[in-house]
Amino acid sequence: MELSNNKIKNICNIKIEQITNNHWTINNIRTTNNTGRGSQIKKDIVVEINNNGCWNCISHFKDRQGYVLIWKTDKKYRLHRLILSKKLGRKLNDEEIVRHMCDNPQCCNPNHLLIGSPLDNYNDMVERERRVVAKGEDKSDNLTEKQVSEIYILALSGDSSQKEISKVYGLKRGIVESIVNNKAWVHVTKDINVEDCRLNTIINICEILMSNKKSFRKISRESGVNRETIRKIYSKQIYKDVTSNYIFAERK
Ligand SMILES: [Zn+2]
Repeated sequence: MELSNNKIKNICNIKIEQITNNHWTINNIRTTNNTGRGSQIKKDIVVEINNNGCWNCISHFKDRQGYVLIWKTDKKYRLHRLILSKKLGRKLNDEEIVRHMCDNPQCCNPNHLLIGSPLDNYNDMVERERRVVAKGEDKSDNLTEKQVSEIYILALSGDSSQKEISKVYGLKRGIVESIVNNKAWVHVTKDINVEDCRLNTIINICEILMSNKKSFRKISRESGVNRETIRKIYSKQIYKDVTSNYIFAERK
């Protein structure tokens, strides 16, 4: 990466500073001297600006829906919501939906974000469903591509058992099984990075380990990750790039 002279811009109240040709840090979304749970995480928020002008955050992890998560004071927030809130100069309430004009959940360019009404959201959903049906993929059941990805990720990240998943989605076990084993909907799941999903699980475990409320046994049962692995995460022997960001609670 080629370093250029530092350039600072203010775009819609968001202060960004150039670090390479297409990488910028976002400097006024959170301070790094917070007290509280997230205080030990002091990574800069780095975005990569692509040809569409999307600001893809590359420094932080994404949740299952593809939204970037940021610790601020003692809570986790979706970065794009923090950005829009800063742009508008007010807090967003939980009912307010933030829409991506670019259809890219990872993007946090304030110019690509809009407050949407529930009706907008409904229309977006209908549009997505329409596209799924138009592709002729929807046959024996009413699953959407989004649901299929969710099911795949849930199962492979060890977050939920296939039985639980089929219950939640009201599906026959066989359907979940064939999704997970790449026998159906492969066109949807083939690009899903299971490693990323596993990383999400590791992050969740790290977050749980920041308090000492749950036993390894319980964490293991809930996460589907075996106890020995959890012990190694706790002692930071594995997944060091993730675990080094955390300060775990002491255990008796
Ligand atoms: Zn965008």
